[in-house]
Amino acid sequence: MGSSSTEIAIIGAGIAGASAAHRLSELGLKARVYEAEQHPGGRMAHARIGQARFDHGAQFFTTRGQTFRSVVDAAAADGAVKVWTNGFDEPPDGYERWRGVPDMTALAAWLLAQADATVHLDERVHHLEHLEAPAIVLTPPVPVSLALSQHSDLQPPDRLLNRLNGVEYKRTVAVLFSLEEHPEGLPTHGGIQLVDDPDLAFVTDNAAKGLSDVPAITVHLSNDASAALWDEPDQKLIEFASAQVQAEIGPIVSVASMVERWRYAGPIQVLEESALVWGNQPLIVMAGEAFNGPKVEGAFDSGRYAAEKIAEYLS
Ligand SMILES: Cc1cc2nc3c(=O)[nH]c(=O)nc-3n(C[C@H](O)[C@H](O)[C@H](O)COP(=O)(O)OP(=O)(O)OC[C@H]3O[C@@H](n4cnc5c(N)ncnc54)[C@H](O)[C@@H]3O)c2cc1C
Repeated sequence: MGSSSTEIAIIGAGIAGASAAHRLSELGLKARVYEAEQHPGGRMAHARIGQARFDHGAQFFTTRGQTFRSVVDAAAADGAVKVWTNGFDEPPDGYERWRGVPDMTALAAWLLAQADATVHLDERVHHLEHLEAPAIVLTPPVPVSLALSQHSDLQPPDRLLNRLNGVEYKRTVAVLFSLEEHPEGLPTHGGIQLVDDPDLAFVTDNAAKGLSDVPAITVHLSNDASAALWDEPDQKLIEFASAQVQAEIGPIVSVASMVERWRYAGPIQVLEESALVWGNQPLIVMAGEAFNGPKVEGAFDSGRYAAEKIAEYLS
């Protein structure tokens, strides 16, 4: 691979890739971001059925660290994110749960818009060796990034390979329902988080959340139900989710529905490093939510750390 370009290549425009591009820009470096989908956001995902709009991956995020908080405050000042609720239980626990505006993809899109980066949407990378870059950031889920590095003969050394091969993921089945009428059995903010339920993990009324103009609910099955029903046909998943959600919130009349299967919903084991680095010309940095703590903030922090390692390498 040549490295005549000084632009850093980033694979993935989820929150980790967007955060890496944003931080590289703060450090005076340009990025080229490749995203397989037509939109940024990754697992902070958005879908439509007709007029109905859904967040169907991550439903919210929290801010614990000061760095993420200050970026979120800047995004909020620009209208890209806002506080959804201060808790899902009654009474609320008081911790802010944030959402994107209009939907969960907005934070990644906002970070990319602030960055000195070109973003290539709908462009899946198959071979890293075709990219001209002094450093490459890999942000897809670990098995996907690993396969990509191996196809390209840029695989990690054995000591890292063994650990990366051990990272397993839970699955989540999401079922989206466009409804005839607004459902009645949800709290006014529109979110129900079910921590110990054997079948359901989360239910969101996307209209109450402020995202959809027409009745639209997102249903996430629990880890156990998602694993058990993963290979069932869509119709069976729709019937199962419909029955479970009606037991939770009362009757619904669905006008259309859609199933999304998240094969890599979240890592079961999280690696303690903030990102893993190997190689030279190009330097490879593997980042994302499997590092440094899962969830949106962990992925953000990991992308930022990846950018800092690259700036250090290039200095
Ligand atoms: C159903 C579900 C619910 C969740 N709920 C929450 C929640 O409520 N709160 C929370 O904090 N977190 C939640 N999470 C976790 C959160 O979404 C993730 O931690 C975070 O979004 C991961 O970001 P990432 O950038 O590391 O990875 P991703 O978002 O997966 O980004 C990787 C990107 O790489 C792209 N890509 C993959 N392969 C290629 C390729 N070859 N070429 C180009 N692009 C490629 C993908 O399309 C994707 O956009 C949830 C996740 C799921 C799936």
